[in-house]
Amino acid sequence: MKCNEGGQLLICSTSDCPLVYHEKCLGSEFICYKKGNFYCPFCSHSRALKEYLEAKKKASLLRKDLDAFMRNVLEHQPAKFL
Ligand SMILES: [Zn+2]
Ligand SMILES: [Zn+2]
Repeated sequence: MKCNEGGQLLICSTSDCPLVYHEKCLGSEFICYKKGNFYCPFCSHSRALKEYLEAKKKASLLRKDLDAFMRNVLEHQPAKFL
């Protein structure tokens, strides 16, 4: 972000992100601090997305385990219960 103003610079904490912002240019609603680190709007969005996808992946793995468990139970049921 380029402007002629000085002032407090915010440097994104993501190691491969080149973005630098002025605190007042960005606007406080876009400033996201996590554990004392600043993440730019792009990175905080992509981090949130990544966390969401990981949670979703975990949930689907759990469901797969449950499916396998249920199949196993059903396959080992005595015939009279089927
Ligand atoms: Zn600025
Ligand atoms: Zn960033």
